Amino acid sequence: MFSPRDIYGVVRPRTVEEVRETVRAFARTEGGPRLQALSTGRNWGLGSREPARDSVVTMELQGLDAIRDLDVEGGWAIVEPGVTQLRLAELLDGTDRMLNVTASSGHTSVLGNIVDRGVGLRRQRTLDLAGLEVVLPDGELLRVGWWPHGEHPGAVNPQGLGPSPLALFTQSDLGIVTAGVVRLLPRPEAQCVLRLGFDSGRLVQAIDELRRWTAQGLVSGVLKVYDTVSTQSYGGHADEYLAHLCVSGTERSVAAVSRVLGEEAGASGLFTRVLRSDEHPPADDDMVAQAVERLYAGDPSRNETMLRSAVGQDADRVDTEGGGWLFFLPLIPFTGRAVARAQELLAQVHAETGVRAGSTINALDADVVDLVVSFRFPRTAPDARRAHRALDRTYELFAEAGFHPYRLDSDHHQWVDRLSGDPAARAFVRRLKQTLDPRLVIAPGRYA
Ligand SMILES: Cc1cc2nc3c(=O)[nH]c(=O)nc-3n(C[C@H](O)[C@H](O)[C@H](O)COP(=O)(O)OP(=O)(O)OC[C@H]3O[C@@H](n4cnc5c(N)ncnc54)[C@H](O)[C@@H]3O)c2cc1C
Repeated sequence: MFSPRDIYGVVRPRTVEEVRETVRAFARTEGGPRLQALSTGRNWGLGSREPARDSVVTMELQGLDAIRDLDVEGGWAIVEPGVTQLRLAELLDGTDRMLNVTASSGHTSVLGNIVDRGVGLRRQRTLDLAGLEVVLPDGELLRVGWWPHGEHPGAVNPQGLGPSPLALFTQSDLGIVTAGVVRLLPRPEAQCVLRLGFDSGRLVQAIDELRRWTAQGLVSGVLKVYDTVSTQSYGGHADEYLAHLCVSGTERSVAAVSRVLGEEAGASGLFTRVLRSDEHPPADDDMVAQAVERLYAGDPSRNETMLRSAVGQDADRVDTEGGGWLFFLPLIPFTGRAVARAQELLAQVHAETGVRAGSTINALDADVVDLVVSFRFPRTAPDARRAHRALDRTYELFAEAGFHPYRLDSDHHQWVDRLSGDPAARAFVRRLKQTLDPRLVIAPGRYA
């Protein structure tokens, strides 16, 4: 229920050569529609398949679905845009590598999420990116970043030598991605997930304590804290804030660190309960805790239940029949003060619009939190209008507070100028677009 755009048609190439031919055909036509690429198009909450502009032909790339190469020992896979996270994760099952998976459906694209700079349970997806194969607006095919060197693949080096063109093709309208080299994480020998409850009166102190543990290296992967609204949206139980914290390593290190964390939590006096996954596995109907535990281990097979709880439908029917769902995705400092301020802003949005957002704190490291703000609403026109008004207000309030989003939805592309800082840097990127794509073969996207 984002603004509908004029889409003149959809092309579904099945080979890289067909992508190049299509791009060349568009390059021959002056002033015609522009191409907007997507992988599996499940960009829910940010506009799904909806382009950011009118006069577009959508190029859907799920037909390119080869896993071209896989090197478990070297820790990388070469995948095309149609390869889903579930398929790659299943292929790695039983090996000593795993994929950094997201909490979205298993049927979403590994590359689609990476090029939009998504976030997995282990880290930001851009950190999984080693190389990209790209079709430029004139049809030329090139490979940027790191690609295996034939017989002797060597060690992964995404930046290569000299200025790195790799980042130019994420959140980008400079090319169409036809494949990528994705890094695979070493699979931990053991894992324990701690669930810690705390009440809202302790928010600042509890977040500062969790930050301290993260800074001291006690936490593996992305520490998650759900507020009550978001726990319930995704199908869990909570009448308080609930933190999910992963510890992974060898059997002995996991046992030791889990014990230490239990002691730290006890000594802090901040937490109402501390449950360990080995001693207190999540209840059968606690979909969030069940899914999160698997996700840390690179297994997205429980995500469909969480998706159904969030939007009421299976992946294939979310856009046609699912409930309303909007995301606002700012990065905020990992401090109790900043998290409390973000909660105050969401309370203000609630008071002004009547729409209450859920939020999940995803600590990416000791300094940065990806705050996932979600608005869930019934799919009626008045409810949608209210939810979108609440989203607009959230953009305004968070920007004023210095909490800028790192991804944009299809209605808010004009925010890129407001949020980008130095105008000379924006002008530089526009100059690159003008040089590479003077005839605007590729539609300016959500970040242009
Ligand atoms: C319940 C729920 C949970 C979610 N959890 C997460 C989460 O944990 N982490 C997260 O990051 N997101 C999450 N999402 C958001 C979203 O579903 C995912 O980001 C999803 O991976 C995006 O869809 P996709 O993989 O089909 O990518 P697409 O929709 O195919 O691509 C996303 C965008 O990337 C660009 N793009 C894609 N392919 C290409 C290409 N080949 N060439 C050039 N540009 C391209 C386009 O701009 C496109 O719009 C969640 C959503 C829901 C509803």
